[in-house]
Amino acid sequence: MKLSALRGMQDILPQQIPLWHYIEQKARTILELYNFHEIRTPLLEHAELFLRSIGEDTDIVEKEMYIFNDKKGRRIALRPEGTASLVRAYIQNSLFNNPSPQKFYYIGPMFRYERPQKGRQRQFHQIGVECFGISSPSIEAELLWIVKQFFDTLNLKKFSFEINSIGCSKCRISYKEHLFKFLRDKITDLCSDCQRRFVKNPLRVLDCKVESCREILRDAPVVLDFLCDKCKKHFFDLQDELEFYEIDYIINPRIVRGLDYYTGTVFEVTTSMLGAQNAVVAGGRYDELVKIFGGPSTPAVGFAIGLERLVELAKDSLCLKPKSPLVYVAYAGEDLDREVKLLINEIRKEGFIAERAYEKTTLKNQLKKAQKLGVQWVIIVGEEEIKTSSYRWKRMEDGAQGIGSLEEIMKLLRESNENK
Ligand code: ATP
Ligand code: MG
Repeated sequence: MKLSALRGMQDILPQQIPLWHYIEQKARTILELYNFHEIRTPLLEHAELFLRSIGEDTDIVEKEMYIFNDKKGRRIALRPEGTASLVRAYIQNSLFNNPSPQKFYYIGPMFRYERPQKGRQRQFHQIGVECFGISSPSIEAELLWIVKQFFDTLNLKKFSFEINSIGCSKCRISYKEHLFKFLRDKITDLCSDCQRRFVKNPLRVLDCKVESCREILRDAPVVLDFLCDKCKKHFFDLQDELEFYEIDYIINPRIVRGLDYYTGTVFEVTTSMLGAQNAVVAGGRYDELVKIFGGPSTPAVGFAIGLERLVELAKDSLCLKPKSPLVYVAYAGEDLDREVKLLINEIRKEGFIAERAYEKTTLKNQLKKAQKLGVQWVIIVGEEEIKTSSYRWKRMEDGAQGIGSLEEIMKLLRESNENK
């Protein structure tokens, strides 16, 4: 049997990890500056959590969820996104009792049963944030500002910030009526999914990815034209805020987001550098979700960044490689294992990456290994030198050699590390 990873699930190899660490570290640094705190929620949740929050007739719930029964027959899902889990954690742990606002971030894998292609996996990673307790649009602008600064630190350019408002439940009553009228006589031209959505939740039709449906929807009424005064003001205020941050934005009334829980502001950040899978960030406000799940009424807003797509964008400009060891500790003679371990411990204690031979072998083999590893220094433990508490050293760069005490060798390593 040939073993391979599941379709759409990728190994992230040591060669790629430095780039992932770099991006994650930059994200942590900037988010913590804005008083976001990391939260880690389980990868598995009751399937119902997602069915109820994301919505029954959305792509994620209809087609993309990994759902199975556990040994007790409970319906379990691998999380397809982070927001629902965060809302659950916020309520379950009574985090609403802490001073408001509460700002969280998470970094981790998500799972969706989608057709794998470039930029689209079945296990992918997101950096996400969620803020609870702020109703002002200033947080929405600040979130986009954070994204912009984060991308600047990664030297990423050519992004388009697209915003929209899908209104509150009040605005949507009259909008739904107009949309319903618009779609009614076109129903037979819609795809079978949309025909079903039209009956259950016409708003979902707006999110269809089928080209012929998109064509029909081009002339559909947009929610922006139906906003109540409060939602209108909120959306204008957001635009003022974005102008403060000098963020170039586009109002795109076609962004509706494929999840049911959004209210008011929604946004996406897209790039022209990724081909078809061009969305890098997506988010919005979900002021009703905490209440729906049994918590106190709490305004909330968040976004998620697709990490694989970010890595793809950053990989050429950030050429990061795994660190190679600085030192190889070799031995020349019998029964020197103990001395090798003592010396390498000292070296590692100083914070230098060090490698050694774990099996009995010749000095020649050890030197070859050291060369392959790309170390800068080889320190050789020999029987003669032990008697005088000294070690032979070799600098690989120029072949220079010498003998020195532990102290002298440490000094050499420190100096060479500083000059790197
Ligand atoms: P898309 O339109 O590309 O399917 P989405 O609207 O389903 O995206 P969200 O659920 O809002 O995406 O997730 C936020 C971000 O997560 C996306 O902008 C994207 O960068 C990333 N993402 C979503 N699904 C995948 C996937 N299957 N593989 C890789 N990244 C993904
Ligand atoms: Mg999707």
